[in-house]
Amino acid sequence: GSTIGILGGGQLGRMMVLQGAPLGYRFVTLDPADNAPCGQVSSQIVAHYDDVEAAKQLAEQADVITYEFENVDAGVAALLEDQSYVPQGSKLLYTTQHRLREKRAIEAAGATVAPYAEVKSAEQTLEAVRRFGTPCVMKTATGGYDGKGQFVIRSEEQAAQAYEELSAAGTDLVVEQFIDFACELSVVAARSSNGEIKTFPVAENIHIDNILHLSIVPARVADEVQRRAEQMAAAIAESMDAVGLLAVELFCTAGGELYVNELAPRPHNSGHYTMEACATSQFEQHVRAICGLPLGSTKLHMPVVMVNILGEHVPEVQQRMLVADTEAERLNVIPKYHLYGKEEAKHKRKMGHINVLCHNSEDALNWIEQTNIWRTRTYHD
Ligand code: ATP
Ligand code: MG
Ligand code: MG
Repeated sequence: GSTIGILGGGQLGRMMVLQGAPLGYRFVTLDPADNAPCGQVSSQIVAHYDDVEAAKQLAEQADVITYEFENVDAGVAALLEDQSYVPQGSKLLYTTQHRLREKRAIEAAGATVAPYAEVKSAEQTLEAVRRFGTPCVMKTATGGYDGKGQFVIRSEEQAAQAYEELSAAGTDLVVEQFIDFACELSVVAARSSNGEIKTFPVAENIHIDNILHLSIVPARVADEVQRRAEQMAAAIAESMDAVGLLAVELFCTAGGELYVNELAPRPHNSGHYTMEACATSQFEQHVRAICGLPLGSTKLHMPVVMVNILGEHVPEVQQRMLVADTEAERLNVIPKYHLYGKEEAKHKRKMGHINVLCHNSEDALNWIEQTNIWRTRTYHD
């Protein structure tokens, strides 16, 4: 069989390995950490991501190369494209690495983004704040995740402060109008190297402190909104000539208007629910897409709620796994655990997730509440 090389050795790569192995693929990953989640389940080149010699080694060992994070060094991406087969290409990375380029690509596909402006000074920031009203949000164009590199501007007086703080990062800056969303949605689309496109069912996402907490599937929005979200994701994947997975994050207003927030050219945390709930997981689909196999069915077998396990949840999750789960039986839900094999359970670090399979998402939400592991909020009005 062929060998797939993965740039990055985190949990996304690990699940790609675990779900790609049954198709007969071997994997080699490149990651600087000698205890990376991926290295435990595949062979690994231990080196930094921008190490050109290591990248060459990866190119030699692999027939196909992919990545599990979008901040791949441009030089390494070019080298890999030159010396190996990178079906996703470097253009998709180039676009999604930069919020302004990404927004233009989304608009070019006919989808809507929140009104935005590039700003290059405190004066331009103030101008944008006046135009969009408060609150609005300033974001660094590159490098942000989990809400890092963002400043919510709540008054015109804060414009200068926001510019001063974020311009220190030395990247381009964008100010966005705040969308008064009723909920956040995401769609993972897959486009194969031969142009076939499929989308997974829409997930409804709840964040805590800018980190994904829950994905609820089916999303609790009208079928018509779900169809539009899926069509939008497919249109963006098509228009960008994407290969592999393209995750699309959206805001949905009370009136059902959709705004695309951002894209990720890789498996997405909000797509982890597919592992047991769909006929094909997002990870298998990614492997199929980059290897030119027919895409698998994205049919949802049953409702599911995915809940993330962060560092602070680990001790209680481990305890819970040791005892028979009578609560799950009572509620008629099936919690499926996925731990990523990370040693240090740091606060807010993504350590695993649980897919709570159910007949009705209310039952799964009740199970999550009853465990008392995620004490932060209730999900029912
Ligand atoms: P990720 O970890 O998903 O990559 P990120 O750091 O790239 O996160 P965004 O997805 O841009 O950040 O924003 C994080 C969250 O902040 C969003 O999921 C949303 O809840 C909120 N948010 C961001 N931009 C806006 C906006 N224009 N209007 C309303 N809410 C927003
Ligand atoms: Mg992001
Ligand atoms: Mg996001």
